[in-house]
Amino acid sequence: MMKYMDREMMEKEAVQLNEHILLCKECRETFFVYDSMILDIENVNQVAAPENFEKAVLAKIAHLPAKEHIYSREDKLRAVVASVFVFFLSLGTALVVYQEQIVTYLVQNQSTADYIMAFSPVAVAVENHTKNLLSFTEMAVAQVERVISAGAWIIGLSIVAVCTIQFSIAKRRNR
Ligand SMILES: [Zn+2]
Repeated sequence: MMKYMDREMMEKEAVQLNEHILLCKECRETFFVYDSMILDIENVNQVAAPENFEKAVLAKIAHLPAKEHIYSREDKLRAVVASVFVFFLSLGTALVVYQEQIVTYLVQNQSTADYIMAFSPVAVAVENHTKNLLSFTEMAVAQVERVISAGAWIIGLSIVAVCTIQFSIAKRRNR
C-alpha cells in the first residue's frame, strides 16, 4: 500500500493489491483513507518562500545571543552541596587518619598544649592530677577524639542535608 502511495508500485504488485482490497474490508477502508489524504495533500497550493528568506533566517540565527545558562540553578546548587560534603568528608578522614600525629604535634607545641588542656573539663583535670591515672598525652588524645566525634556529627549532618536536597530536586523534576 505504501509503495502505491509513493508511486513505486510494479504492475504485478498493483494487481495483487487490487485483488486483496476487493476481498478485505479492513484494508479497503485503510486504502481509501490514505488515498484521499494523499489527494488532499497534493491539492494544497504550494507557495514559494519570499526572496532572501533563507538568508534572512540564517542571519537571525547568527545574531541570536549565545546560550548562557549551560548549567541550571539545580546543577549549581548540587555542585555546591557536593563540594561542601567532600570538604567535610576529607577533613574528617584526615582527622581520623592523622589523629596520632595531630595530637603529638599539638602536645609538643607549648602554646597549643595549654589550649588543649583548656578543653578538659575540671573534673577530668582534677582526676588526672590527683590520681595520675592518665598521662597528659592520653588525656589530650581523649580530648581530640571528642573533637573528632563532633566532626563526625558534622559529616552525618552533611549526608542528611545532601540526601534531603537530592530528594527535593528529584521530586521537583518528576512533577
Ligand atoms: Zn486486508
